[in-house]
Amino acid sequence: ADGSVIGSGRVLLAAPRGYCAGVDRAVIAVEKALERYGSPVYVRKQIVHNVHVVKRLEEQGAVFVDEVDEVPPGAHIVFSAHGVSPAVVRAAAERGLQAIDATCPLVTKVHREAVRFARDDKQILLIGHHGHEEVEGTMGEAPERTILVGSPEEADTVEVSDPENLVWLSQTTLSVDETMETVRRLRARFPNLADPPSDDICYATQNRQVAVKKVAPDADVVLVVGSANSSNSVRLVEVALENGAERAYRIDDASELDPAWLAGAGSVGVSSGASVPERLVEELLATLAGHGFGSVEEVRTAEEDLVFSLPRELRRTASGAQ
Ligand code: SF4
Repeated sequence: ADGSVIGSGRVLLAAPRGYCAGVDRAVIAVEKALERYGSPVYVRKQIVHNVHVVKRLEEQGAVFVDEVDEVPPGAHIVFSAHGVSPAVVRAAAERGLQAIDATCPLVTKVHREAVRFARDDKQILLIGHHGHEEVEGTMGEAPERTILVGSPEEADTVEVSDPENLVWLSQTTLSVDETMETVRRLRARFPNLADPPSDDICYATQNRQVAVKKVAPDADVVLVVGSANSSNSVRLVEVALENGAERAYRIDDASELDPAWLAGAGSVGVSSGASVPERLVEELLATLAGHGFGSVEEVRTAEEDLVFSLPRELRRTASGAQ
């Protein structure tokens, strides 16, 4: 990028950024299903929350639907990375659909925790965003034992029936700091609130927030590539603002960059959410270079090498062997 310097602006490129292991696996699952079964392959909800990824898979023959009753009996359906409730799995089976479950294993882990705590007669406080698909799936594991807590403010007012027997779980893509604040406020009211057995906020969400925190104090503007319904992308904008960035914006791609944001800036921080292809970041860097921000310095706070194996339904080879 150094070759294209026009002005003296600096880009601080946060790392890790972009695709996580769960997104990579879900996108490959749709591609493999198309390869194996041909078009159309149906996908319930957006496979991952990124408009560019969804559009490209549509061009390859994927058909996105909201619910399983829109899918012709016998067809293949992929469940998205955000997970599904048991009711959806049942509805798909009853309709005779061939399901391929691309739920991220780190979301499945939270589902298992919910099942186990419900079996132990615990009341579950699930910290997460109202209406988010992941939350709907996790709540579906134990609907009568789970209460959603949507914010630190809701922690102050949530009503529980069994205060001595509470555990909290969370959505995987929340702000770590805000979640800790929610837990602190819950515990002030319910001192016996138990912690989950391990982190529910996933490694990718945490790593991307740590990297943005490192970049934000030195950046006049932070740009986060990601879609509006991508929880972890939206959190990165908030984390940047809370940690010293003067301004921070989420954009779906370079075309949404408003040059006015760069006025007077000496350095621009760049990151991207866990569902964002690196190509979109590369295009943004090229656009920034054209505006005089041509010197790119990567600021790395962690290495990531996690890879998940494909969904079980796709693991066998064409000959039927594992
Ligand atoms: Fe899995 Fe985390 Fe990626 Fe979501 S953001 S798909 S939980 S690794």
